[in-house]
Amino acid sequence: MIIKGFKVKIHPNKEQQILMNKTFGCARFAYNWTLNKQLEAFKNGEKFISEGELRKQFTELKKDMKFKGEEWLYEIPNNATKQAIKDCFRAYKNFFNKKAKKPRFKSRKHSKLSLYNDTYKIKVFEDKVQLEVIGTMNLAEKNRIPKGKIYNPRISFDGINYWLSINVEIDENQINKNKTKPIGLDFGIKTLITCSNEMNFNRINTRKENKKLKRLQRKASRHYTKMYKNKTTEKSKNLLKLEKSILKQHQKITNMRLNNIHQATTKLIKLNPSHIVIEDLNTSNLIKNKHLSEKIADCSFYEIRRQLEYKCEWNNIKLIIANRWYPSSKVCSSCGNKKEKLSLSERTYKCECCNLKIDRDFNASINLMNLAM
Ligand SMILES: [Zn+2]
Repeated sequence: MIIKGFKVKIHPNKEQQILMNKTFGCARFAYNWTLNKQLEAFKNGEKFISEGELRKQFTELKKDMKFKGEEWLYEIPNNATKQAIKDCFRAYKNFFNKKAKKPRFKSRKHSKLSLYNDTYKIKVFEDKVQLEVIGTMNLAEKNRIPKGKIYNPRISFDGINYWLSINVEIDENQINKNKTKPIGLDFGIKTLITCSNEMNFNRINTRKENKKLKRLQRKASRHYTKMYKNKTTEKSKNLLKLEKSILKQHQKITNMRLNNIHQATTKLIKLNPSHIVIEDLNTSNLIKNKHLSEKIADCSFYEIRRQLEYKCEWNNIKLIIANRWYPSSKVCSSCGNKKEKLSLSERTYKCECCNLKIDRDFNASINLMNLAM
C-alpha cells in the first residue's frame, strides 16, 4: 500500500463559494480563538489548556452566540472549526517539539484560506466531489483521483481558484496488473494524435466559439477607442460586462480543449499499455514549421504530454520521450530504411525499398512504438 497526494481544481457554484468563504472565515475564527485562549492562560500564569477542554468551551461559545442571535457558526460544516482547533494544537505541538515557530494569529489577508472536510463525509466520484454541508461540485479533471481510502481532505482558495487536496491509499498491485503492448503516439495538426494501435484522436472544433470570441473582442476594442478619444480611463458598465464575457469565452474554449485531451489520454491509459512513446516536442517538425505555428499556439501537445506524465506515473505506465534526433517520420516502419528527405506535404509514406505505402503519421507512431520494444 502506498499513499499518494492529489490536488485538483474544483468548480463550486456561486452559493457554494459563498458558503466556503464563510467556512474559511469560521475556521480562521476558531483557530484564532484557540490561540487567544492559550495566550490568555499563559499570561494569567495558568496551565496549557487541553484540547478536549477547549473543544467543550467552543461548543458553549457556539450555544451562547446562538442565544444572542448569531448563528453563523451553525451554517457551516461542524468539522471545519473542530479541525481548526486541532490544527492550532498541532501548531503548538510542533512549537514545543522545536519543529516550528510559535503559532501566530491567522490574518484575514495573509493567511492561506483552507479548510478540512471530514474523511467519512467526503465522497469522491469520477468527476465530482461531495463535501459535507457544502454539497456536490465538479472536479476540473475527470478520473484524476483514484479510488482508495481517503486521508486529510482539504479545500483551499488561492484567490482565483478553489482546490481539493487529498491523500489516497492505493494498492500498488492493482495498478501493475495485465499490461498490454506499448503504444506510440504521433502528434499532428490534422489528426491530433495518431496511435500505433490504429486509434485516432481528433482536435476539437472550436471555430464557432472562436468566432464569438473575436466578435466580443471587436466590440470591446470599439469601447477602448471611444475611451481614448474621450480621454477617460473609466470603463463603462457595458465594457466591464463585455470584458467578463470575453474572459468567460476564453475559459470555455480552453475547457473544451482540455476536456477533449483528457478524454483521449484517459482512453489510452485505460488500455494499460506497458509503455507510451511520444516524440520530443522541442525538436518536433510541428513546432519548427512556421506556417503551422499559429495552430500549435494552443499548446495542445504540451497539454497532452503533461497529462500523460502524471496519468502514466500513477498507472505505472512507462512514458518514453523519443531522443530528439530520432527520425520517427523518415524511417520505414516495415523494413527500417531511412529516407533522406520527406517534405511535410507528403501525407503518405512510400518506401523505395519494400514498397510499403502507409499514412505518414501512422508510420511515425509505429516507429515510436518500436522504440519501446
Ligand atoms: Zn520499407
